[in-house]
Amino acid sequence: TTKHIAIYGKGGIGKSTTTSNISAALAEAGYRVIQIGCDPKSDSTNTLRGGDYLPTVIDSLRDSAKVKLQDVSAIGFKGVLCIEAGGPVPGVGCAGRGINAAVSLLQELNVFEEFEADYVLYDVLGDVVCGGFAVPIRDGITDRAYVVSSSDFMAIYAANNLFKAIGKYAPSGGAKLGGIIGNSILPGYPESLITDFAKRTGAAVAGFVPRSPVVAQSELYGKTVIEANPGSEQADVYRKLAAHVAGNENLSVPSPLNVTDLRDWARSWGDAINQEAASFSASAR
Ligand code: ADP
Ligand code: SF4
Ligand code: MG
Repeated sequence: TTKHIAIYGKGGIGKSTTTSNISAALAEAGYRVIQIGCDPKSDSTNTLRGGDYLPTVIDSLRDSAKVKLQDVSAIGFKGVLCIEAGGPVPGVGCAGRGINAAVSLLQELNVFEEFEADYVLYDVLGDVVCGGFAVPIRDGITDRAYVVSSSDFMAIYAANNLFKAIGKYAPSGGAKLGGIIGNSILPGYPESLITDFAKRTGAAVAGFVPRSPVVAQSELYGKTVIEANPGSEQADVYRKLAAHVAGNENLSVPSPLNVTDLRDWARSWGDAINQEAASFSASAR
């Protein structure tokens, strides 16, 4: 059976980079993978295809009533089937309805069965997790979601919002949480901060991806790290993460913090980091 996995996170946090490297790692391991960009930015799959943009499903549906799979897809690295749902015309319409229309088209065209997909990854914008962007976890499209987060407050805030949406929809058949993917991790407190947030909310940590210049360098070639730098340590980080996401059946319904508790929790980390910096500079003197 095909596993449908949603990957959420705030804008710019590294969803597409992480998702594409997971897809590339799974494809490299011999799995059949479909990646569907569900972000109006529509660049989810670019690094699987040398950096080029794809016509989006929404734009194609607007232009023609009869859309074929080849009009809105391309085969990327190691056979990954790449699709971009697309977004509304700026200022008009709902991105969530677009995601719904895109997935409905793929279901009508029987794409998931005919492609014999092992994994379908949905790369979803998640700053707000409004009704629209909740579509992939709300309407039975996926049964599991991951959230990409750094140790920055706004990224954690977005993760907490996803937990709220999961809490709302999971009881009626919506997706559960697979875990938090810590991204752009620098040495020092970030891993501990994310681990602590996970503990407070009953979430799992799926893995940590360090901040690495190899990512930016691969991106300049329009490629994933798996393709451009397969022998790098960073490639092995993505392979390990992909193996975890592929095999993980330990799904949960996390308990989000309310905003006041989230702020208090963040402040306590601010204090702890300040104290550590102060004691470090004292001991250096
Ligand atoms: P999103 O899809 O969440 O909007 P992207 O995947 O497009 O974010 O990433 C935003 C930028 O951050 C990109 O330029 C990407 O190369 C960079 N980036 C993401 N993850 C890492 C990482 N682990 N190390 C270094 N740069 C990263
Ligand atoms: Fe945009 Fe979300 Fe409102 Fe749809 S539901 S219009 S995606 S904010
Ligand atoms: Mg993206």
